[in-house]
Amino acid sequence: MNPKWNGQFSCFDLVAKKEDYPRSVIQVRDIEIGGSDFVVMAGPCAVESESQILQTAESVAAAGARVLRGGAYKPRSSPYAFQGLGVEGLKLLSKAREETGLAIVTEVMSEDDVELIAEYADIMQVGTRSMENFALLEALGTCGRPVLLKRGLTATLEEFLRSAQVIAMAGNPQIILCERGIRTFETATRNTLDIAAVPVLKTVSHLPVIVDPSHAAGVRSLVPVLSRAAAVVGADGLLVEVHPCPEQALSDGNQSLNLPEFRRMMLDLQPYLDLQHESRELRPQLLAVGGAD
Ligand code: PEP
Ligand code: MN
Repeated sequence: MNPKWNGQFSCFDLVAKKEDYPRSVIQVRDIEIGGSDFVVMAGPCAVESESQILQTAESVAAAGARVLRGGAYKPRSSPYAFQGLGVEGLKLLSKAREETGLAIVTEVMSEDDVELIAEYADIMQVGTRSMENFALLEALGTCGRPVLLKRGLTATLEEFLRSAQVIAMAGNPQIILCERGIRTFETATRNTLDIAAVPVLKTVSHLPVIVDPSHAAGVRSLVPVLSRAAAVVGADGLLVEVHPCPEQALSDGNQSLNLPEFRRMMLDLQPYLDLQHESRELRPQLLAVGGAD
């Protein structure tokens, strides 16, 4: 380990990796995140309707995803944009879980919503804009659900781990880190995927690390290649936006894969997972499914 990292991160003692300390494996229903499986979380940016979420859930489950994503409470850059369906969206997510067996990850923006969202969600997502909402992080300490913590748009890895430490100190060690691209001078992509963040975080922390290629790229054509990169550098999984009809999506349509595109991406991933130092399985039966789309 770089001696600098030792000094930089060891103060976050609840999330920092220690000698001979086992990696955290986060158990979500029958899924282990941070273990030997590569766990893919997929679904629309926002829950829009029953047919949209159910159709997406069935399709991503058949393609090998284990967790359904979908925002019911959306942090939008514009006050005029779709803000999400709220509790109605949460109910649709739990219907999709009943029908497909997928676990649910959905965003929580305010400490006032933690209790309600924890009744429906299997994993509580903290968005990039909330990474330093310390009141929210503290409230998640006692929510009884794992937390998917996204890296802030302009956060250093030290600041990212500091937020993870806040959640752990508040009583919840079940944290999944998510690299989703950071803001740099580059404008060709929506954000710059900091691919080095994955091996650095896995070196200095015992927490699982996943990658969100969708918000990093901003365009769907880059999502498969960034996912393959994430697989090669040792990520524990992905968070990917998928929509049955991206052209009509109420949010983030440009970066959402359609259903066949997601299926194709999943079919292509295993050889890249095999390149990892600790080889991972997407899902044993996935490659056997094969076939044309
Ligand atoms: C999302 O996952 O839809 C989202 C809003 O992500 P981020 O917080 O990374 O922008
Ligand atoms: Mn989105």
